[in-house]
Amino acid sequence: MPSRDQTASLFEVESSPELPGRHIIRVAVASAADTQFDYRVPDELWPIEPGRRVEVPFGKGNKLEVGFCVESDVPQGKAFGSADRGIRLKAIRRVVDDEPLLDRPLMELARWIGDYYACPLGQVLAAMVPGAVKRAAGVKRQRCVYLLAGADVLEAVRGPKQKRLVTVLTERGAVSPESAVEVGQVLARVQCQPATLKRLAEKGIVRIRERRVLSALPVIPEGMANDGQGIVLNEDQRGALAHICRQIETGHFGVTLLHGVTDSGKTEVYIRAIEHVVKQGRAAIVLLPEIALTAQTVQRFSARFERIAVMHSGLKPGQRNVQWQAIKAGDTDVVIGARSAVFAPLANVGLIVVDEEHEPSYKQDTAPRYHGRDVAIKRAQLAGAHCILGSATPSLESLRNCRTRPSFALARLPRRVKDLPMPAMKLVDMRQPGITERPLELLSKPLGEHLAQVVARGEQAILLLNRRGYSNFVFCPSCRHTLQCRNCDAALTFHKKTGRRAPMLTVTGRHMDYGYAMCHHCLAQTLVPRDCPLCGKAMTMIGLGSQRLEEELARKFPGVRVVRVDSDSMATQDYYELLREFGQGRIDVLAGTQILAKGLHFPNVTLVGVVSADTCLCLPDFRSNERTFQLIAQVAGRAGRSEKCGTVYVQTYFPEQPAIKFAMDQDFAGFVAEEMKHREACHLPPHWRLAMIVLRDQKHDKLEAAAGALRQRLDRIVAAQRLPAKVRGPMPAVISRIQRFHRVQIIVQAPDAAVMCRLFTALRAERPIRPAVKIAIDIDPVNLL
Ligand code: ADP
Ligand code: ZN
Repeated sequence: MPSRDQTASLFEVESSPELPGRHIIRVAVASAADTQFDYRVPDELWPIEPGRRVEVPFGKGNKLEVGFCVESDVPQGKAFGSADRGIRLKAIRRVVDDEPLLDRPLMELARWIGDYYACPLGQVLAAMVPGAVKRAAGVKRQRCVYLLAGADVLEAVRGPKQKRLVTVLTERGAVSPESAVEVGQVLARVQCQPATLKRLAEKGIVRIRERRVLSALPVIPEGMANDGQGIVLNEDQRGALAHICRQIETGHFGVTLLHGVTDSGKTEVYIRAIEHVVKQGRAAIVLLPEIALTAQTVQRFSARFERIAVMHSGLKPGQRNVQWQAIKAGDTDVVIGARSAVFAPLANVGLIVVDEEHEPSYKQDTAPRYHGRDVAIKRAQLAGAHCILGSATPSLESLRNCRTRPSFALARLPRRVKDLPMPAMKLVDMRQPGITERPLELLSKPLGEHLAQVVARGEQAILLLNRRGYSNFVFCPSCRHTLQCRNCDAALTFHKKTGRRAPMLTVTGRHMDYGYAMCHHCLAQTLVPRDCPLCGKAMTMIGLGSQRLEEELARKFPGVRVVRVDSDSMATQDYYELLREFGQGRIDVLAGTQILAKGLHFPNVTLVGVVSADTCLCLPDFRSNERTFQLIAQVAGRAGRSEKCGTVYVQTYFPEQPAIKFAMDQDFAGFVAEEMKHREACHLPPHWRLAMIVLRDQKHDKLEAAAGALRQRLDRIVAAQRLPAKVRGPMPAVISRIQRFHRVQIIVQAPDAAVMCRLFTALRAERPIRPAVKIAIDIDPVNLL
């Protein structure tokens, strides 16, 4: 009777005639469950370092999958499932990359992200390398040729064309694979057919080989930018920079929260700090919210740094790959980009800057649900680098870190560079009778009158309405029926078909067939019925919307050039082109969503109107006060950016709301003190940590069963480990249905990250929940909808 081991080895020899490799690697595949798997490496493919991708047979059907090697040379005895059960490990099929895509520090960062954000390592790794790099986008295969022969074979060259060809190659010094020249070029120069070259190759005089080349495409926009040479830092800037440079010189990790009002010269401080780091031979990453990555900003940095790479969603795949390869090759000192640029493959990071650090858009909303700012801090920590977080309205999280963590320091730039006064803030209480000329209008009389004056003086205005579309809801005034999305638990937003030339819409709903209704969760569109499907009376619209604002402006200010800016209109217009026109004064008023509230520099803008400060307040999210404050503060910074003094009008139905009051007084410290008290009392961030688990399924019963089971598991872990965590739910999510999927959420509160991590580590070690539903874990969510 053979022992189990012998059976296993007999089986091995039978099924795979070649000798199995002695080395074992651990692989994380992107599509797999929350586990890593061990594979044998055939000897001829050894060694394989972590960070390289391999192709492996996966699952019962041995489907080929690509995964990252995450551990090299796993000891025989420690390999998953091998020694104990005598299971034969499968062998890897192919190594995909010649060298690791991610170096050791980035692999370590990946592990931290996987653990902290409760995300399978394979998914994290897949997200860290741009798709364009993995697909080798923009890589062309180029045939090139070089001379192989010594003088003896050259006698075999026949005829003038062959001779000329050899002469050209000699002239160009194409005598080795490295110096080979492109076939097309040579043929064009000699004016001969490929056949000539082929004959020379057959005689062994030349050799043709393939080379992979990246097509270089420019990514830095052209144009003149202020080179900043003449700028002399003011006292506040000097103080902040000196602190940062001292920190950098220590070579230890540290974070500086640079709290500076808009136009206080933060960017200038970033640039000087980067210059300091570059002088030391290290590199820097600058993260910006996607929306702020304008040509203006990129130009400003590229005017100051020569070796710069740009990573943002506007790049073509080929450009993206070129930029990434240049970074990897060590050809860049500064990487500037959106959230995912935090993974730029720089070997020697000395500084990471996160501008507008409070921006919720730094949070990725698909797995891995990481926060760009927090990953930046972690990366800086692993690299012994410094991290600068900049904002005019820092997040409560960062403010609290400055108070409680020794590695964090606060530097303030309380004044605008040119010491211009902050704009005058005017509150408009929209509840007052007669505040608008006609009922349901969006612009109050005071704002309208001021706008008329501004335009008459040849100055410009920005009007902000934090809502897309023409109006919020389409509803029936008699039976109260609202148009709802078929797939989601959400009201539809009305959109007019083509803004400008179509006949004007009236709020009584006569012409509603000139538009469509759209759900902003699933993007489904439907035509809007003129009459209520339930009672047959005419439908109407309530609420606010950027399209409606545009129309009101057209009616009240016929000669004024107004352009609407929101993500709908952006789909058809070139945003940057529009900003250029505005900058040149060819547009009087920009009216639109919060896309306008960010980093635009227009000295001629002297009026900013927040048409409704309440749109954020009405969201059922504990951060709605913070968002409201930030919105008003940011927008205020857009006005009066020159000697001409600016005015901000804030229209609201809740003038007594604290967030609005503090924002009107531009009292950031007062707002923070008040809001912190509330957060602490409610065990909310930044005092406690939050995690949100969203379960979704098309079948409601199945979903309820799974959510109940998950809740029980969480309770069990909390009790067994005596964790001071609170679990709430399952409860319907705020949007309880999206795209026909019911959504249920469970919220976990924990006093710190370590407790949260222990809870989710234990949960992930358990078997999947039956019945299986889709589960998404969001650690530190920024959006509770
Ligand atoms: P922030 O990033 O805080 O909005 P910036 O760094 O963009 O501020 O500075 C605003 C403007 O002031 C820019 O045009 C910049 O070139 C200029 N600037 C910055 N610092 C100074 C300074 N010390 N003296 C003069 N101009 C400055
Ligand atoms: Zn929908």
